[in-house]
Amino acid sequence: MAESVRRLLGRPGSVSLQPYTKLLKTIEEREEALRALSDAELTEAAAELGNAELPYDRSDLTELCALGREAARRTLGERPFDTQLIGVMALLDGHVAEMATGEGKTLTGALAAAGFALRGQRVHVLSVNDYLARRDAEWMGPLYRLLGVEVGWIGQESTTEERRAAYAADITYASVSELGFDVLRDRLATDPADLVVPEPNVAIIDEADSVLVDEARVPLVLAGAAEPAESDAAMAELVRKLRPGIDYRVDDDGRNVHLTDAGIDAVEKALGGVDLYSAEDTTLLSRVNLALHAHALLQRDVHYVVRDGKVRLINESRGRIALLQRWPDGLQAAVEAKEHLAASETGEVLDSITVQSLVLRYPIRCGMTGTAMAVAEQLREFYELEVAVIPPNKPNIRVDEEDRLYATAEEKEDALVEKVAEVHATGRPILIGTQDVAESERLAKRLERAGLECVVLNAKNDADEAAVIAEAGTYGRITVSTQMAGRGTDIRLGGSDMKDRDRVVATGGLYVIGYGRYPSSRLDDQLRGRAGRQGDPGGSVFYVSVEDDLITNNVPEARGYRVSSADGEITDPAWRQTVNHAQRIAEGQLLELHRNTWRYNKLIDVQRSVVLEHRRAVLHDNLGSRQLAVDCPATYEELVEQVGEEEVARAARLVTLYHLDRGWTDHNAFLADLREGIHLRFLGRRDPLDEFNRDAVPAFKGFLDEARARAAEMFAELKVVDGRLDVAGAGVKRPSTTWTYMVQDQPFSTDFENIVGRVKNLVGRD
Ligand code: ADP
Ligand code: MG
Repeated sequence: MAESVRRLLGRPGSVSLQPYTKLLKTIEEREEALRALSDAELTEAAAELGNAELPYDRSDLTELCALGREAARRTLGERPFDTQLIGVMALLDGHVAEMATGEGKTLTGALAAAGFALRGQRVHVLSVNDYLARRDAEWMGPLYRLLGVEVGWIGQESTTEERRAAYAADITYASVSELGFDVLRDRLATDPADLVVPEPNVAIIDEADSVLVDEARVPLVLAGAAEPAESDAAMAELVRKLRPGIDYRVDDDGRNVHLTDAGIDAVEKALGGVDLYSAEDTTLLSRVNLALHAHALLQRDVHYVVRDGKVRLINESRGRIALLQRWPDGLQAAVEAKEHLAASETGEVLDSITVQSLVLRYPIRCGMTGTAMAVAEQLREFYELEVAVIPPNKPNIRVDEEDRLYATAEEKEDALVEKVAEVHATGRPILIGTQDVAESERLAKRLERAGLECVVLNAKNDADEAAVIAEAGTYGRITVSTQMAGRGTDIRLGGSDMKDRDRVVATGGLYVIGYGRYPSSRLDDQLRGRAGRQGDPGGSVFYVSVEDDLITNNVPEARGYRVSSADGEITDPAWRQTVNHAQRIAEGQLLELHRNTWRYNKLIDVQRSVVLEHRRAVLHDNLGSRQLAVDCPATYEELVEQVGEEEVARAARLVTLYHLDRGWTDHNAFLADLREGIHLRFLGRRDPLDEFNRDAVPAFKGFLDEARARAAEMFAELKVVDGRLDVAGAGVKRPSTTWTYMVQDQPFSTDFENIVGRVKNLVGRD
């Protein structure tokens, strides 16, 4: 048993590792015998594990781990460490394995995936982006093949056929958003043969906290094209003339903009003396707000780029240009008007899904990440998952220095640049983590002015970023990157080929500098974790200023620091507490947001599942046809006679599905309006969620009956054209194109805040 394992048999609040560690010895004893097997014999031995059901008993679990270890050694040249096998067993038990960066979670997850697959389960390994999904599937491919299981992967560019093939494999790698969008698109299928995603069995979620907590606040939305939007060029022109600071003001955090009294006057006058705030003119006010938002808050090349005559969104934290993604309609049109572009099509939300709903579909869920304990409660509350804390294979010797605190942002930056220069002079590689891409670029310019050449990660793609990050441990290299960029990529000392490893080790290994603390300690830890992988030397330090958003947004009242010297450094120990306090407030707010999204979507999920259950019966069991035979017996008989039963069943299915889907889209729009409208009412002490439920529940009553009645009406009107029933002629339409986006869900905030929130927090689809 590894020393590190003996040291740590469980941390409070996490599951005990003892049941796993006690098997390690037997697993090791089996090794020699397995080495003697030919490849074919090894594959056969793995197949024998398929003769029983889940869960694994002790002896089969031992055999699985031993076989997996041997297979990995042969195919990847890596013999899984004890810690990795403990991780495998924790995953098979349905836990989230906390394993630090560089501990080999990819292989750990793969062995667990194989374990599930050998027992007949269909496994989805969910990644944070397409690049990682493909990389890991291909990387682990030889291992899977030797163990006799099939693997596939899905990316944004995958065709429907490729997707279907990938999902048909025993193990499928996909990003969470691709999977979600496939699930959403399947909900529009009108023929069982068009379905893409099979029944969910097992989900293994990599970077589980990012996916389950951070991205869970962002519902995935599927929209369909209806008509071109109206361009609001006049309004764009009007707001262009407004004077910043006089006619409108932008909040300090850049999230909100509002007209001043002078601005209101100016707009009202320009519009010919209207009253912006009169009840009839609410659309006018929202048009002004949208145009102003597009004008004042969304900057070209920061929030979006214009390419090929189209507005393309940039994801702020990752700096990625998102394909097939857009803002909610009004805003998209406002930005297009601002840029003098033709308005693109408007859409309507066809359906949406939260990460919670997506993940909770799987009867078996598990995952791995470097930072799980900090969100252990949320994982339990939202996903019924427990955390298993797995010690590193080699002790972590990274030196984490105390935060350096400064009075002003400028002093912080000066000190940081000085530090970079000093460390760089020794040849030690430096990785600077920023809050967003704009900050990266600004800082990189500043470093370059100081004669410090650096590599900066910006709006490219994940694969490029991975390649850059992989070299961040090169001797003398300075890399500037957001916290998210290059996730999942290993930073080896001395460069990816480790050519210079000894020289870099002598400098102290990778030195990580945080340009400000993040809104959660987990994100800080993820950045820190870039250094000191697998027992490497390394160091980390964060530079913080009183002017940082984290402080001004969360503890604006904080005052009274003492500055120790001319460089503005604060030594007052109470200030360390202030910074931590600010971070805890930020974490609390994010949790509240998550909880709200969850509570709000719960009711919608209940209603949706009623519709989906019904839809399934129509799609697979001819329910529509049976209902119509009852509802309009005369028509039904007549049409049978004319075109045959099969054709009638087809038409009945299409007509019924059309009205179900139409009804659901309308109901969704109603719920969205309801949600946005609730804040306008005087609520007193009443809970907005109760109010929401009070109206949403009756609105859904009779939903299925109504869809059925409409279907019957349309069915009665069907005409026979060329021996077939003309459903299109009767009004059955499907969206011509669909696209997807993700919105930050902020139920119960004000209308305008809601838009701002959504816009500011759009997350790119890779
Ligand atoms: P994580 O996802 O935990 O950060 P990765 O799965 O990306 O880590 O693996 C980090 C590095 O460790 C990779 O280069 C991988 O090849 C290597 N690695 C993983 N397991 C082993 C092992 N048992 N022996 C040697 N190297 C390993
Ligand atoms: Mg990883």
